[in-house]
Formats: sequence, structure tokens, C-alpha cells
Amino acid sequence: MENVKFKIIKKKKVLSLLDSLTKEYNIFIPVEKNGDIRFSEFNSGQDISWDYRNTKISPKEILFPQTETLFYFEAGASAQSNRSMVPIPIEESKGSTSETNDKQRTTNYLIFGIRPCDAKAFSLLDKIFGGDDFQDTYYLKKRKQATIVSMACNKPQSTCFCTSLKGKPDNEEGSDVILFDLEENILAKPITKRGEEFIEKLSSWFKKAKESDVEKKNKLIDLSLKKIQSQVDIRNIKERLDNAFDASFWNEIHQKCLGCGICTYLCPTCHCFDITDEIDSGAGASAPSKGKRVRCWDSCMYPLFTLHASGHNPRPTYKERMRQRIMHKFNYCPENFKEIFCVGCGRCIRNCPVNIDLREILISIDFS
Ligand code: SF4
Ligand code: SF4
Repeated sequence: MENVKFKIIKKKKVLSLLDSLTKEYNIFIPVEKNGDIRFSEFNSGQDISWDYRNTKISPKEILFPQTETLFYFEAGASAQSNRSMVPIPIEESKGSTSETNDKQRTTNYLIFGIRPCDAKAFSLLDKIFGGDDFQDTYYLKKRKQATIVSMACNKPQSTCFCTSLKGKPDNEEGSDVILFDLEENILAKPITKRGEEFIEKLSSWFKKAKESDVEKKNKLIDLSLKKIQSQVDIRNIKERLDNAFDASFWNEIHQKCLGCGICTYLCPTCHCFDITDEIDSGAGASAPSKGKRVRCWDSCMYPLFTLHASGHNPRPTYKERMRQRIMHKFNYCPENFKEIFCVGCGRCIRNCPVNIDLREILISIDFS
């Protein structure tokens, strides 16, 4: 029986269910604001944008914020100098201006209703931030506390091409639970042990699903699959790019690029960042210095990204920067992590101001 794991809940009860979890979880849901949908913290009485296609800004910002304070510091005495900087952990710092940041460090996360492509993107970010060589404690601390409840995609957009990248509207990778919108009801399928425990804990809200519910879900997913028209043949893309570093093709594809970085900022798998110290020099030159170390998203599409202190820049033009973006996702990451770092969400295509289409770039890569 396929429906053995499926549970069902009336859609109109979901807000009350979330309401019952607000003490236990820091909940993020898709919310409409000024015509855009964005994942935002759930507040009592707030409604969910059930019918959204996908958000412009990816939910990666929940676990990997656009700016994040790593720690605070202030001048302190040391054996070498009486003005050396002493780091202060976030928890101990006074005068933090980031209440959300502090709250997020001490609570569980419930990321509710993200699309399966974005859930898969989290599993790719896990390889970057939680790999064998490097462990990013800032990301991992939040990730380990996160329950990801995805929502199968029933309205793919013309720019979606997840099926070319081993994805599909009901892809389960990265999700603890996947939900299906059956209009009046929501069907839930636990994927991981964490997902099973989550549904079990909430069992009083759910009923066992009927065979007819699962059949309805199957029909919706079939329909959704048919709506994904974009197909890109990315077979052997890594091998095709292996010897392509000096190919003349790179002279063409960057020509329209403005270097705005939108494609990388909106991408759910892009993960480059910069770290800076923001100094608050206090009341005057003689006052003790204090400040904070902040990391913020950066982009390989910016000229300063690789500018050396000597003035040399190994990626001086749009050509080298565009090549880096493509090679990183489709050649270097497959080499290092055995994964293509694109989930086919189409954000970079939909939002590029000069209509550079990643699918067209991928199709035209043929150096045989
Ligand atoms: S969004 Fe388009 S114009 Fe902007 S950096 Fe990316 S490819 Fe270039
Ligand atoms: S490269 Fe473009 S299509 Fe691929 S995951 Fe990033 S934003 Fe989505």
C-alpha cells in the first residue's frame, strides 16, 4: 500500500498547527510582501502564501544569512600590547543589535513550505559547510536544529529545469517531510527519521490518508511534470568542461553581462562570502576600540572578488568571471563534491536584467 506513510490534514488547520509550535521552533513560511513572496518568520494570525510559484530570494538566507555577525570584540590588555583585540562570543556580547540572530542561535528551526529544488540546495550547501576538510559551525549549528518541510511543486515556471538535474516536482532530497497541496487538504509524507518524529509528535492533527488522496497527489505531480518543458542535456558536462578553460566560447557568453551579481545572490547553491571587521571607534581616538566581525554574501561576478592586495586581479574581465561561475558549478564542484551545484530553479534566468539564460549557455557548451 503506497499510502502507508502518508498523513492528511485540512489546509485550514495548518495555521493553528504552526501556531502551536511557535515556542518550540523559529518558523519560516512563504509570505507575500509588496507583490513578492519571501520566506519570513511566522507570526500568529499570519497567512501562508499557498499558491506561490517560487520565491525570488532563495531560502538559503535562513541558515546562511546575507549578513551575519560572527563575534564582537573590543580592545583589551595582553602581554604584548595593551590595545590588542579580544573576541567576545555572541552570547556574551552586550549591546548586540541583532535580536533575530541571537534568537536563531538558541531555537530550533522549522522551514515550512520550501520547494523541493531549494530543499535539495540545502543538501548541497551541507557538503560545502559540513565537509570533511572544513566545518562551518555558524551554518551547521542552525542546520542541525532545522526541520525542513517542503511543498511539492504544482506550478513550475517556464524557466524551471530541475528535471535536467535529477530533480522533479516531488523530489525528496533535503526534505524531512514533503507536503502535497490537494486544495482543501494537505497530504504529508515523512522522508527522514526527523520527519517521522515530527509527524508522530503532531499525530493528533493528522489522519491516515486514503488511497484516493494518494491517487490525487500522483495525478497532480504527473501534471506538474508535464509543465516542465525546459530540458537541457547536461550529460558529461563536467567532462565537456574539463579541457575548456581556454576555449573561445568564453569570449562570447559574457558579452551582455553587467556584473550585477543578481544571478549569484539569488542562487540557492551559491555560497561565497566575505568577512570584514566593522570598527566602532567609540567617543574619540583615545577611547577603546570595539567592533564586530561580519560575514556577508559575495559574488564571483564582482571584480573586487579576486583583487589581490598587490593590485593584480586574476579575473580582470567579465569573461573570466562568467567562466568561473559556470566552471565552479558544473566542473569544480562535480570534481570536489561529486555534485553539480545547480538545482535548475531558474532564478538566475528569471532575474538577469539582460536575459542571460543559463540553459542556453549549457546547451552551447560543446567542445567535442
Ligand atoms: S544576473 Fe545577468 S547581468 Fe547580472 S551578473 Fe548575472 S549574468 Fe551578469
Ligand atoms: S545556477 Fe541558476 S538555475 Fe541553477 S540553482 Fe542557481 S539560480 Fe537556480
